[in-house]
Amino acid sequence: MMSRTVGTLFEAQRRLVAERRLSFDPAARKDALEALRRAILAHEGQIIAALAQDFGKPEAEVLLTEILPVLSEIRLAQRRVKAWARDRRVGVTLTTMGTSARIRREPRGVCLIIAPWNYPLNLALGPLVSCLAAGNSAIVKPSELTPATSAVIAKIIASAFDPDLVAVAEGGVETSTELLALPFDHIFFTGSPEVGRIVMTAAAKHLSTVTLELGGKSPVIVGPGADLAKAAEWITFGKLTNAGQTCIAPDHLFVHEDIRDAFLPLLRARIARVIDKGPMAGIISPRHAGRLETLLREAEAAGAKVTRERTGGEGSFAPALVSAITPEMRLDQEEIFGPILPVIPFRDLSAVLARINARPKPLALYVFEKDQAFIDQAIGSTSSGGVGVNLTVLHYSHEGLPFGGVNHSGHGAAHGEWGFLAFSHQRAILQNRFSPLGMIFPPWTGGKLRLIRL
Ligand code: NAD
Repeated sequence: MMSRTVGTLFEAQRRLVAERRLSFDPAARKDALEALRRAILAHEGQIIAALAQDFGKPEAEVLLTEILPVLSEIRLAQRRVKAWARDRRVGVTLTTMGTSARIRREPRGVCLIIAPWNYPLNLALGPLVSCLAAGNSAIVKPSELTPATSAVIAKIIASAFDPDLVAVAEGGVETSTELLALPFDHIFFTGSPEVGRIVMTAAAKHLSTVTLELGGKSPVIVGPGADLAKAAEWITFGKLTNAGQTCIAPDHLFVHEDIRDAFLPLLRARIARVIDKGPMAGIISPRHAGRLETLLREAEAAGAKVTRERTGGEGSFAPALVSAITPEMRLDQEEIFGPILPVIPFRDLSAVLARINARPKPLALYVFEKDQAFIDQAIGSTSSGGVGVNLTVLHYSHEGLPFGGVNHSGHGAAHGEWGFLAFSHQRAILQNRFSPLGMIFPPWTGGKLRLIRL
């Protein structure tokens, strides 16, 4: 926890926002982003060590999935913030002739960013980039499940910013609850749908706006015309990165019956190769590892067939493919969030799509297929936060695409200009120059009625 209470911090940030409203121009925002960039680079070694300590995340994954995405968000925002922040002119309409219309993208004010443990640095500092680019101040609450990374985030922020602009509030549910009682102008939450509901309920009290980046079960459809070797590579990449503890990781596979026997050996071989050649991140806590083992045990007891691979290094969880699953199994109901992959054979695509539509809208939908009509049918008949065709998870790293969920998988979007907009209020400004509307002001006497009728 910081030395000041969250309430005092909040008030200090609110005062600064009030004073700064007009002066926090794009150049000052760029400076803030530069301060963040330098602080991250100065702490790179500590970030790598902290993530190894928190859950054995390999260095390459830290560089690729924690540091690089934040640095590239910063670079993009530094280049584009001036253009993003500019007022947008809007043409006049019949009733607004003689006026000029514009939209000002202005800071929302004091923002709260609550981050999860699975990409603890990226998902705390990535939203902060958008928040600062949009001219706001922020209190960042990292996850308590990654205490070493949380401490490094606190150091990074303290070295780069005055707490009146950006502060870190370390702690768990109590800290979160304390923060959520405050009237923030915007809350950006990344985490589970269950806690997302708590955040939205708390926000409702003050009518604070929210961005919710949630999770869920992201399905993969492997069609009869898929490039099977490539599909095996991409699915393994999406599922084993961070040991499957990724919000957009493939959760379960629908595999067409015609290619199932050819595909599954390729998938198993690919998983084995990736595990053989390098370490895999650990499972965040013994409780979560126990949860995954229980999911497997329960499914097996209920008739599922589990094929277990070797572990990817000491202490890591041995990946598993599971077949013959049924809707009663928790494996088929809960977000798996680990290296377990249920495989469900199918013959009729529309049955798969009906099944997807019967569940909460997922964060990602993946389709592997060459036939465009098949791809179009899968996309056109479903809803999800995003879609990956012949790839997994890569859509996350395209900053030109809005990243977010829909309903159960989230509200609003992150990344690039979309993230900037999440932290901006689009203020409508209409300025009168020579509006003739006075001609029809009341009292409606004489020929005015004719004018209104047009
Ligand atoms: P979580 O919801 O348990 O925790 C997220 C944050 O909320 C943490 O900082 C935690 O301290 C806080 N929190 C927990 N309980 C709270 C409560 N009762 N009241 C207030 N705050 C509370 O999520 P997690 O386990 O850290 O992360 C995993 C989940 O996050 C998965 O569902 C995953 O899909 C999702 N996720 C989504 C994205 C995305 O971008 N959409 C990214 C990563 C993870």
